[in-house]
Amino acid sequence: MWNRRRFLEALSGLPFVSRIGVPALGAGAATLLPVEAAAKGGRDFFRELGVRPFINASGTYTAMTASLMPPEVMDAIEYASNHYVMLEELQIKVGERIASLVHAEAALVTSGAASALTLGTAAVLTGTDQQKMIALPDLTGGASMKSEVIIQKSHRFGYDHAVRNCGVRMVEVETREDLERAVNPNTAMMLFYNNNNKEGRIQDEEFVQLGKKHGVPTFNDAAADVPPVENLWKYTKMGFDLVAFSGGKGIRGPQSAGLLLGRKDLIAAARLNAPPNGNTVGRGMKVNKEEIVGMLAALELYLKKDHAREQQDFERRAETIRKSVATVPGVTAEVFTPEVANHVPHVRVTWADNKTLTPSAVVTAMRDGEPSIAIRSEGPALVIGVWMMRPREDEIVAKRLRQVLAQGLAKT
Ligand SMILES: *Cc1c(COP(=O)(O)O)cnc(C)c1O
Repeated sequence: MWNRRRFLEALSGLPFVSRIGVPALGAGAATLLPVEAAAKGGRDFFRELGVRPFINASGTYTAMTASLMPPEVMDAIEYASNHYVMLEELQIKVGERIASLVHAEAALVTSGAASALTLGTAAVLTGTDQQKMIALPDLTGGASMKSEVIIQKSHRFGYDHAVRNCGVRMVEVETREDLERAVNPNTAMMLFYNNNNKEGRIQDEEFVQLGKKHGVPTFNDAAADVPPVENLWKYTKMGFDLVAFSGGKGIRGPQSAGLLLGRKDLIAAARLNAPPNGNTVGRGMKVNKEEIVGMLAALELYLKKDHAREQQDFERRAETIRKSVATVPGVTAEVFTPEVANHVPHVRVTWADNKTLTPSAVVTAMRDGEPSIAIRSEGPALVIGVWMMRPREDEIVAKRLRQVLAQGLAKT
């Protein structure tokens, strides 16, 4: 009989009952998503749709939906969903609260760090001039605006598209002398990519000083750069006029939220370039009241948490995985922590014969296996991120990865 159940089985490509319990994996399996939904008697949307959830053993990647919101954040979202409020009033009040929490002059909840980059740039270009807001991204028309953004060559990155959305042109420099020569009456802003601080010839503090010296606003994209928690105020205190963070990475707020922090006049101008104002570059970057309140709740929770204990937990998870896979003959595993972005313990796994068993084949086997686990390959290595896992998933990942590597290398 071709009933709904059979149809769903066909969609997911998996038999219905076999995924309940997953006995081979022991106690940890009880934490898997489909089991939870079934246990609560709720509707299992992902199974219904044939979308397969997985253990996130990678990190805060947008493609993998990045982070899970804690229950306190979901409570805030649920709370906000039951009332009407004026969007602008809520943005202003939440902005004030967030600013005081992170010791910034002002703050705005944006729809992600990418939107913070666009709105911050728009703010610099338009100020509170409505004609300019309407003209954006046309910088040359009646409401003539500055059009150049200075950036170090080593700081060019994919996300600078969010800045270019405002119609500006990137002017690349390498040395301090280059930068000072590049400043001219058409210079709107100086953009800094925090993760590449060490790669540039001009580092953060000097960059800020140069901005101040020439009267050009400086903007630091630190989207993925908490932890450490102190980074939430480090760069505004250093003197950057604007700083962007993602809301849905380490802070674990809504994935579609972000923070723009900085100078009061610029934050006010950024807000004017966003909803509810319709004729603006930011109109497509709506943040709803649920996300705004959820972002505040997530930030408060993040600031209160025991960061040292969390760090120990991440280290323990990484060590569990490292130890497990290192038992496979020929496999080398080490724990490492990226210096700036995603500054939490990861595991790097390599083996000698990575032509016969390629890292990407292991990634596929892990994703297609049971349970599904998302890890990443980087050149000749596998990289496992532990911070977005749920409790005890590290044990599942440790065991599965050891199995997949042992089997794959036994065949070769
Ligand atoms: C993730 C990221 C962004 C985009 O952040 P969203 O919150 O997803 O919009 C921008 N810049 C950098 C450096 C990032 O890592």
